[in-house]
Amino acid sequence: MKYVDMHCDTITSLYRSEGSLLKNELHIDLEKMKKGECLLQNFAIFTFIKRQDSSFAYKAIDYYYEQLKANADKIRPVFKYADIEENDRVGYMNAMLTLEDGSVVDGELDNINRFYDLGVRMIGLTWNFENGIGYPNFTPDLESHESDLYQVNTKDGLTDFGIEYVRRMEELGMIVDVSHLSDAGFYDVLKYTKKPFVASHSGARSVCGVARNLDDDMIRKLAERGGVTGINYCSAFIEDHNEEFTSIQGMVDHIRHIAKVGGIDCVGLGSDFDGIDNKLEIVDCSGMQLLYEALKPYFTEEEIEKIFYKNVLRVYKEVLA
Ligand SMILES: [Zn+2]
Repeated sequence: MKYVDMHCDTITSLYRSEGSLLKNELHIDLEKMKKGECLLQNFAIFTFIKRQDSSFAYKAIDYYYEQLKANADKIRPVFKYADIEENDRVGYMNAMLTLEDGSVVDGELDNINRFYDLGVRMIGLTWNFENGIGYPNFTPDLESHESDLYQVNTKDGLTDFGIEYVRRMEELGMIVDVSHLSDAGFYDVLKYTKKPFVASHSGARSVCGVARNLDDDMIRKLAERGGVTGINYCSAFIEDHNEEFTSIQGMVDHIRHIAKVGGIDCVGLGSDFDGIDNKLEIVDCSGMQLLYEALKPYFTEEEIEKIFYKNVLRVYKEVLA
């Protein structure tokens, strides 16, 4: 079955190593995507804002297009919803460009337009640092790299600039991504936007309590808005205090819980491939059909289609111009 994946860090990793999108040792390359039956992969440009500035994002975007150009016989960029159906019809896979940490606009709303013109169609407002747009639930210690994964911030939401930011995104037809954002920020996005939004790579906090996952109220509110959360395959987000291994059953547990709480229309996939370093039962994206098989005892074919691609495409159709 075809799938859409809302988040990976592959391009950021390839840019650093000057690696090839066609074939590499990462979780995601074009050969593995083909084997896994990928319909659309979101490629995030992750900027570590304490050590990099916006020039990193622009250079990594150039690299993304170099790689797509070199492989134009296999994959094409998505700029509008119709591109997805057209590429699929002709036999190309789809690539959608996203940002992880929206502060690379350097405090200028007009730079959102600049990124739009460069093909960015989804923006994760924050990573794990306060960034002038909003706040995360927790922030890593820069010395030790340790984070308190269970710390939730219900106090600090979007800044005034952040409110203007999400409004500009909606005007342009860009998808707001609340993964990493504080709980207070989530409710601000709900308050200050009108269109469906997503958590591109977050699971269910009732199944695994880390603050990167959504609690049941957030899942319900996201579902009521018509949004989707893409489950994250990182072991620490799948199972409490598991830094080692992501089992397929663990992934299924999150999907079942989100579908039970928010309904079948609000759950999708957001692997975080090439942003996670634990071992997985689905070793890379070529193994995505194992998840399809594992869902069959719990869901109908129609329901799995929604989980694998139709829910996310519904949001893209509604929000993208
Ligand atoms: Zn992330």
